Amino acid sequence: MKIGLFGGTFDPIHWGHLRSAEEVREAFHLDRVLFIPASVPPHKQRQDATAALDRLKMVRLAIAKNPGFAVSDVEILRPGKSYSLDTLRDFARQRRNDSLYFILGVDAFREIGSWKDFQEIFPLCHMIVTSRPGCGDLLKLGDIPVAARKLFCYDPQKKAYRHTSGTRLHFLKLTDIAISASEIRARVKAGKSIRYLVPSGVEAYIKRRGLYRSARRGE
Ligand code: ATP
Repeated sequence: MKIGLFGGTFDPIHWGHLRSAEEVREAFHLDRVLFIPASVPPHKQRQDATAALDRLKMVRLAIAKNPGFAVSDVEILRPGKSYSLDTLRDFARQRRNDSLYFILGVDAFREIGSWKDFQEIFPLCHMIVTSRPGCGDLLKLGDIPVAARKLFCYDPQKKAYRHTSGTRLHFLKLTDIAISASEIRARVKAGKSIRYLVPSGVEAYIKRRGLYRSARRGE
């Protein structure tokens, strides 16, 4: 099977995430995209972060009707910070017969040099870097530290960069959907509508649980 692994805070999940996953799934003929909400994201330690269980439930509600999507609670169940490397190692070990594709936005990709042992990620899975409005040009290998860049060369047949380990690094331009989770949280806090920014089930869940209305309310 070809499996996409899509990590994020998903606080909350929105149409930008869902459309990204759908376009990647289609473009790479993936059998499934697994959404993996982070428990304690190393890069986003907000004081008022929403409880992991609420974020997990919102992902479940959002993907329920798409048989090509599923959710994994591995990061939420693992104690401590959520490092992508640990997650990818677990998947690589458990799914030796599957092809794994790690999906991340270009904003996250640009930060990869600061991730724990990031060079060890590349041999574990293929990587698909996706565009995001307001995040500048997609591309480029130039976004990662030189030491890592040297281990890739362009494969014109696959239209991707090939790592010395054999895995590929792809860049995919998506339909621009300028939605961010922070904008949604700010809108709820200001009492504004978030209709059509998130699936209706997620909107209802946020309302029911009183999420994002004030700092620390969701914990
Ligand atoms: P926040 O606003 O809190 O920073 P976010 O909207 O960026 O949150 P995350 O959960 O951090 O959401 O995003 C997970 C992944 O989804 C990241 O790789 C990010 O680049 C990507 N992503 C988020 N929103 C969009 C969007 N509107 N279009 C394309 N990619 C997106």
